[in-house]
Amino acid sequence: MGHRLHEHPLFTTQSILLSEDERIKLSYRRAMAIVRAWDLAIDDILHCTPKFWAFQQDPIHSLDGSLTNYLGCHVNLFLGTLSSHLRHRPYLRPLVERALKGEIFGNFLLSEVGHGLDILSMETEATKVQDGFILNTPHAKAAKIMPPTMPIPGLPKFAVVLSKLIVDGETRGMHPFLVNTSDEHGMCPGITSTRLPPRCGNSPMDFSITTFDHVRLPPESFLGVGFDKPKDDRALLHQYIWRIAIGTGILPLHVINSLGIVATIGADYSFRRHIQGKDSEGIPIISFRTQQLPVLRAVAVAHVFKAWRPEVLKVLMSQDGDFRVKHGMGVTLKATVARMTTIITREVGERLGAQGLFGHNYISELENDTRGMAIAEGDALVLCIRLFSELLLNRYALPRPAHNQTLLARHATGVFSNCTSLLNALPKSHRDPGFNSLVLPQSENAITSLGHALAYSAAVDAGVHQPLLDIFELMVVQMDEGWYIEHAGMTQAQRAQLEDRAILSALPRLRQYVDELDMRQYFSVPIRNDTTWDAFVRKLKPHRGPVAEAKQISVGLVASARL
Ligand SMILES: Cc1cc2nc3c(=O)[nH]c(=O)nc-3n(C[C@H](O)[C@H](O)[C@H](O)COP(=O)(O)OP(=O)(O)OC[C@H]3O[C@@H](n4cnc5c(N)ncnc54)[C@H](O)[C@@H]3O)c2cc1C
Repeated sequence: MGHRLHEHPLFTTQSILLSEDERIKLSYRRAMAIVRAWDLAIDDILHCTPKFWAFQQDPIHSLDGSLTNYLGCHVNLFLGTLSSHLRHRPYLRPLVERALKGEIFGNFLLSEVGHGLDILSMETEATKVQDGFILNTPHAKAAKIMPPTMPIPGLPKFAVVLSKLIVDGETRGMHPFLVNTSDEHGMCPGITSTRLPPRCGNSPMDFSITTFDHVRLPPESFLGVGFDKPKDDRALLHQYIWRIAIGTGILPLHVINSLGIVATIGADYSFRRHIQGKDSEGIPIISFRTQQLPVLRAVAVAHVFKAWRPEVLKVLMSQDGDFRVKHGMGVTLKATVARMTTIITREVGERLGAQGLFGHNYISELENDTRGMAIAEGDALVLCIRLFSELLLNRYALPRPAHNQTLLARHATGVFSNCTSLLNALPKSHRDPGFNSLVLPQSENAITSLGHALAYSAAVDAGVHQPLLDIFELMVVQMDEGWYIEHAGMTQAQRAQLEDRAILSALPRLRQYVDELDMRQYFSVPIRNDTTWDAFVRKLKPHRGPVAEAKQISVGLVASARL
């Protein structure tokens, strides 16, 4: 990473003090500045080169949840989809060049109001006519939902729109179409973008409902393979939306950096905040075990996931690997990081008192943004269900942890073999109702247990400090404590004892562990220190009454005493 954008006023601006609309525009400007700074080539995006993955790990993404979403739409979904069409459709190049320079913004419109995950039921229609296509939303439930299509001055928007193709009154599968949705004058003819109200406690974005009213598209807008009825609608649609599978693994990469920020904020505040002790000396709240535990857990998880990241990337970047395995690793990373982050952000956020509730102190907003991340580019639970089913049916296998006898690896093996036994005992195997009621509810736990074991194993090899490994391990144990009591002979009391030991040995080096996360240079929050707090308060709008009477008298007395 050669840029220092995090020091640029675009990024040091305290966005929380702006109006929602101003924040949205700022996030677009930030996103496009990052696009320009990284200067990715279309081949980087098409082939997911090391530069593409380095871009995805840039901590700058973690400073603003909205820009992460915008970049996900623009770079991975929009440019990623167009990148595979350039060879056969060279007329797309000028548009792609503009997108690479951040001069236009690209969206990807798949989800519909009435058919979120059930994409095969999509109803948007593109009817083939002599000179192109007519794109239409037949009714309200077929409206596209979520992609941010609101017009932004100075940033024309285009979109890859997934739609049914109608030829001679017959549906011929679902295909992508390239559509200009807004230009310098606003929305393009026949297209309506209705902005949804803000999500609760998230970084603001112009998530929208988008409809098409008989929009005329030129023949070149068709990005599909052909007009014949496809043999397998489902397979073809999945072929078109392959960048979503890449996005599954990208979004958690940003969150791993965000966890480093959460750990840093939690630790810094806990060292800084004092209560009055019996002696005149104040006592920092980090002295309390109830503070040490969430802070050290955050530090441990941030270190362990940071160590796991390169191992996951090796799989995602391998040129000859099975795509299902790559996607499976992305799902495992996403589910594991998302679930752990929602736990950590809540635990640390609550321990910052009232300060933890505010968006300006980062953690609470990240908690909500992570919930969005878990849904965007594949709902984490549904992805786990699909992956777990395929693993149980031995359709393919994911890499196993190199250290396969650790407590966490044994747990993952145990959860999988328990479900395999359940499956084998079902009269109709995975078509048995028992599969839905007994096996599938364990999908997320099974996939995240594999994630924990892989992360732990990678962290051992990366030399993560032993106390942090222990804290991570014991936190994971607590998440499925029953299993460890039943199968590993570990009682709750033993776990608590071990955790006590791990915390005691980590505490003297807590500051060092936080420094090693190396996130301080990238962000600032008001509660970081007295200077940042004072500067923040000075920017807030006070409502003052007239000078109080007592002050007038005392000022008057002082003045007359001087005479
Ligand atoms: C931050 C964010 C950004 C997004 N960006 C885009 C974008 O750029 N482009 C775009 O097209 N869309 C986008 N989306 C939409 C996203 O793809 C959909 O929200 C997602 O596909 C889920 O659809 P839904 O919300 O309608 O949920 P539903 O389909 O209503 O699903 C709700 C719940 O039902 C259950 N469920 C559904 N199906 C199954 C199943 N087969 N098995 C078991 N349980 C099931 C699950 O619990 C699931 O969580 C975005 C969403 C978010 C949150």
